[in-house]
Amino acid sequence: MKRRGFFKLAGLTAASLAAGGVLAACGAGQIPANPLRTDAGEDGAAPSVAGGPAVAFSSEVDVLVVGSGIAGLSAAMAPAEAKRSVLVVDKLDLLGGESYEANGVMRVAGSAVQQRAGLSATASSEWEARKKELEAAGATDLEFSRTLFEAAASWADHLANEYGAQFADPAEYAQGDRNTSVLLPKDGLGDMESVMVPLRDGLVGKGVSFLTGLRATAFILDEESAVCGMRFVASEGGAVTDVRARRIVVATGGFASSQPLVHAYTPDRERVGCYTVASMGEGQLLCAAIGGQLTGMDKAASLTGDLPQVSAWGLFGPIVAVDTQGERFAREDGSGATAEACFADERGLWWTVFDHALSESSQSRSIAQLTSKNAKRLVGPCDSADALAEQMGVPADKLAATLERYNDLVRAGKDDDFGRTLFLEPLEAPFYAVKQLPVRYRSRGGAATDEAGRLLSAAGAPIPRVHCCGAVANGGSDGLASNGAFGMLTGQAVADSLAEEDAQEGA
Ligand SMILES: Cc1cc2nc3c(=O)[nH]c(=O)nc-3n(C[C@H](O)[C@H](O)[C@H](O)COP(=O)(O)OP(=O)(O)OC[C@H]3O[C@@H](n4cnc5c(N)ncnc54)[C@H](O)[C@@H]3O)c2cc1C
Repeated sequence: MKRRGFFKLAGLTAASLAAGGVLAACGAGQIPANPLRTDAGEDGAAPSVAGGPAVAFSSEVDVLVVGSGIAGLSAAMAPAEAKRSVLVVDKLDLLGGESYEANGVMRVAGSAVQQRAGLSATASSEWEARKKELEAAGATDLEFSRTLFEAAASWADHLANEYGAQFADPAEYAQGDRNTSVLLPKDGLGDMESVMVPLRDGLVGKGVSFLTGLRATAFILDEESAVCGMRFVASEGGAVTDVRARRIVVATGGFASSQPLVHAYTPDRERVGCYTVASMGEGQLLCAAIGGQLTGMDKAASLTGDLPQVSAWGLFGPIVAVDTQGERFAREDGSGATAEACFADERGLWWTVFDHALSESSQSRSIAQLTSKNAKRLVGPCDSADALAEQMGVPADKLAATLERYNDLVRAGKDDDFGRTLFLEPLEAPFYAVKQLPVRYRSRGGAATDEAGRLLSAAGAPIPRVHCCGAVANGGSDGLASNGAFGMLTGQAVADSLAEEDAQEGA
């Protein structure tokens, strides 16, 4: 029998992606039906599924990273630094995933950049506050969240020192107790390029190879049913590429944009739109197909505005959010609170009202870019609240009352209505306002792993050779820095396990 006849495939089908019913029937730890899994035919011929070609490896690497977001790139670091052969593959034509599109608010405390800016906060001193935010957002494994929060400073330091990633000077946006555990990329909101491009280039410099436009569709199993590679299908033309690897790191992101998965796990969110066409939950399904446990996916995906940077402006300057009736309805200093309230109360859309203080804030670049790109959703400058109300199409008396009430809260120095703490400062004419809709953007839950990112089975045992990190995994829903730290820790574990394996084989 030819060797290739041993290989089996376990992975995605159109049916498993579309069949919400199949997934809905599977609780945590159960394996969805996997019609792709097959054995070699009686004649020993190589398995070929649904007309797919037999397994034929075109390359072999120590570490295969599937997904080039912040988690995948961070996972590639340690193996590359240990001089392992590393291949990063992404289904899109561009590297970076959602991480590249993200606002760039990285929850880090105690990094060297922050210390140089005179900030004394550390992950330990900030943990209680961060924990409350994570609990409110539905995080389940707070111990692991803490591990990642604590590792985030060394992740940021490593990116800066070893790869030349550039961060903004925190002195520009962190004053007093504001934003003491936030890192931003060099040019502020919307500039993840300053972090991810140096990281990619540094990895290339360390010998990492990249392939784009190839979508992982199935794990490849050897004669002992152990994972030994991954099948990819070209986005254009459908050509198949099989890669053999000693370790596979699945870093394919969340599932907030997968309507079938959202329908199956969090149906109360299926009637709100999604922000990207990425985050389709493919990694979660691939992991489930080899017996990986999916967990925590019933926690609702976070919401933001469909101009996500606008939703983060309240962290850096004074804004007031009002609904179509001109009424304030949520605190404005958390990136998700307005979107959550807008959706929960069925308000449809909301307006972010701002003035010169925001355009002159540390995030002036974001304000200029967003308002010029979205001129049709912007009103202003308006010399009075009445003129603003007219342009927004909201009742003038209600908007006037809202702004009056807001000014009362500013004078009192306390937001008794919604509990906002940041930038409770007056707004003055000329006013501007920009319109937003709530969208899903960050799912919770996913593949169960241990702290080394090893994929766990339903019984809680590591599935050999497969790691997961970032938003594809249950522990990785807390954003850029925690997903980066998760990737870094996973990469270190992968590098260590290869070294151990080599030592054992050499012994
Ligand atoms: C608009 C927006 C703004 C955000 N802003 C912030 C913020 O300010 N701060 C913050 O902390 N978090 C933010 N987030 C969340 C943050 O971006 C994510 O938590 C983080 O990017 C997840 O990183 P990741 O590497 O796990 O996934 P991703 O960055 O999504 O990367 C996954 C990669 O895997 C690829 N992939 C998927 N399936 C396959 C497949 N089958 N085969 C091959 N490749 C595949 C994708 O194409 C993608 O490139 C934001 C998210 C969005 C959408």
